[in-house]
Amino acid sequence: MNLKALNRSLWAFHFNSGSCNGCDIEIVAALTPRYDIERFGMKLVGTPRHADVMLLTGPVTNDMEEKLRRVFEQMPEPKAVMVIGNCGSTGGVFYESYNIAGPADKIIPVDVFVAGCPPRPEAIIEGVAKLWAKLEKKVDR
Ligand code: SF4
Repeated sequence: MNLKALNRSLWAFHFNSGSCNGCDIEIVAALTPRYDIERFGMKLVGTPRHADVMLLTGPVTNDMEEKLRRVFEQMPEPKAVMVIGNCGSTGGVFYESYNIAGPADKIIPVDVFVAGCPPRPEAIIEGVAKLWAKLEKKVDR
């Protein structure tokens, strides 16, 4: 597989692991014509089986832990995970809450963290650029 080509046409599956929807709305904003993340080749797909990258929001509630593992396993290799928002990165406002299994990297491997509560669309686009750089290093090895 040509990973350099894959880098520039990342298909993303959005997984909400218990978010308040703030981060999810910013992902939607990144897709609108104003920010137009599709100009960088990224688009949302409806199934993890077609996805190169998971856009993960939320702190990963106990209820969502097993579902997250299953969805991650359904993604074909090579795959990447981008956590969007403080909740998925560190627990955020739900840190050490009784019903939280996250943060995300306790459950699945994470490639890029995008900080913010919620992060702005520009930060999400910067996260995509970081992901490209990371994937390109993997290709150069
Ligand atoms: S990081 Fe903030 S905006 Fe995003 S899901 Fe958590 S509480 Fe909501």
